[in-house]
Amino acid sequence: MIYPSIDSLHSALRAGQTSCAELVEAALQRAAEKADLNIFIELFPETARAQALSVDAKLAAGTAGPLAGVIMALKDNLCFKGHGVSASSNMLRGFESQFTATVVQKLVDADAIILGRTGCDEFAMGSSNETSAYGPVKNPLDPSLTPGGSSGGSAAAVAAGICHAALGSDTGGSIRQPAAFTGIYGVKPTYGRVSRHGVIAYASSFDQVGPFARSLDDLALITEVISGVDAFDTTCSERAVPAMAPVPAERPFTFGYYKEVLDNPALDAEIRQYFFDRVDQLTSAGHRVEALDFPYLDALVPIYYILTTAEASSNLARYDGVHIGHRSEQATDLESLYKKSRSEGFGEEVQRRILLGTFVLSAGYFDAFYGKAQKARRVVRDATLEALTRVDALIGPTTPHTAFPLGQEYTDPTVLYLEDIFTVQAPIAGIPAVSIPAGPHSNGLPFGMQIMAGPFDEPKMFQAAHILDRL
Ligand code: GLN
Repeated sequence: MIYPSIDSLHSALRAGQTSCAELVEAALQRAAEKADLNIFIELFPETARAQALSVDAKLAAGTAGPLAGVIMALKDNLCFKGHGVSASSNMLRGFESQFTATVVQKLVDADAIILGRTGCDEFAMGSSNETSAYGPVKNPLDPSLTPGGSSGGSAAAVAAGICHAALGSDTGGSIRQPAAFTGIYGVKPTYGRVSRHGVIAYASSFDQVGPFARSLDDLALITEVISGVDAFDTTCSERAVPAMAPVPAERPFTFGYYKEVLDNPALDAEIRQYFFDRVDQLTSAGHRVEALDFPYLDALVPIYYILTTAEASSNLARYDGVHIGHRSEQATDLESLYKKSRSEGFGEEVQRRILLGTFVLSAGYFDAFYGKAQKARRVVRDATLEALTRVDALIGPTTPHTAFPLGQEYTDPTVLYLEDIFTVQAPIAGIPAVSIPAGPHSNGLPFGMQIMAGPFDEPKMFQAAHILDRL
């Protein structure tokens, strides 16, 4: 069985009802039983068993860390020395991590147990897991549906009851959207709260690592563990990490929501109604809820895709067939080595984004696209921070609808880009955002409620989420 919370797991471990060794065997067995869902690209049974023995010894000695015995999965873009990592791309098939990402080291130091690496969209680019070179992960709630993307495998590992928690990365929604589609909790911390050292880069001014979990307290605890300054990442903030877990008791809050979000034609009517029912409940419970204007909603997806593709085209330049990654066998000279290695190694969506990013950065178009999007990003950030001086937290739906079927044909890739409409504001503004499970919808599926707070105000964000979670 999977323990509903880290607290209950720790009580069972303390009472001698289970051991880490037993937990690892059970998790490996569950992973094998659910192999059809295509969640794991690779399991790490030897490492997990060795970690279990060492954590069991620490538990006996009373020296175990805050995540003792917590079985976790890693998205396939987080480096763990001596283990494979591929960003679910043919470009990095067979590649082995040369060092351990700071976030992974922090988990290991806290005595979490790493079970394996999970499938994701290629280089974290996608919303449905379908750009993975290993085939999409399936949603544990209904295998004909997407678990979301790009961190769909990590969400599914938790939702399927294989792991207690998992790490993903979120550039434009890749933790929050899969959390919403699989009925669990997921958070994107403030930009700079968590180190990116050892995270395979997609868009460096947006990427943040965060956890998936089965409860808000577990989510807050893991966020606290992975946060903090890192000499290997100069964008990682030196601010002290505040206590985040357990999420403290309630106080009256002022919540805000954007009218444009709730009026958006893409929003499912039932999700909209659910949201307004929660607003009524919040008000009757003594909280204030304000409707705010946000005239920039339609600009968010274009800003996001211009800036992230620009950054991706630069980050992915390193995969040239020479230094790292796939090297074409067909090359005849240096230029064909670059071209063939990159054409063979990268999938269609990654190639599309490199082309788009190169275009928006090119001399003739830089000012019109990249420069303008940078300015628009600042406008959005300023407006968002201004709203957050008036309210404690911004709330709304995480996604416009519930999980959609795998295998839909898209003649226009921008249709899928619009999936990100509610999630990209937080990374554009650099603020933290959490998705908590909501629903069910009359179609039987969960969806998510999103809570955003000011930069480095994770404690307030979790507290606001806690209020909604308890309604
Ligand atoms: N769906 C978004 C994209 O494709 C978000 C991805 C992410 O957050 N990594 O870019």
